[in-house]
Amino acid sequence: MSDEVMRYSCANCGALYDLVRVEAESVGTDCELACLMCSAPLQSRDGRFALKYFLLEPPRPRHAQRIAARRAM
Ligand SMILES: [Zn+2]
Repeated sequence: MSDEVMRYSCANCGALYDLVRVEAESVGTDCELACLMCSAPLQSRDGRFALKYFLLEPPRPRHAQRIAARRAM
């Protein structure tokens, strides 16, 4: 019941996440989190809370054509 749900938008690519704060049972469970869409680092802890991200919407495909146009040599 103490879970908190917030919205988080990736500062790098704009992907929208549900951000859930859960009380971490143990200290020292740091794990590197990264944006699913652009691999930008995401904050994984906030004090004694662990942060979890659930992707809601991918970012606008601003660079989609650029990526698709890239070809392996
Ligand atoms: Zn991102």
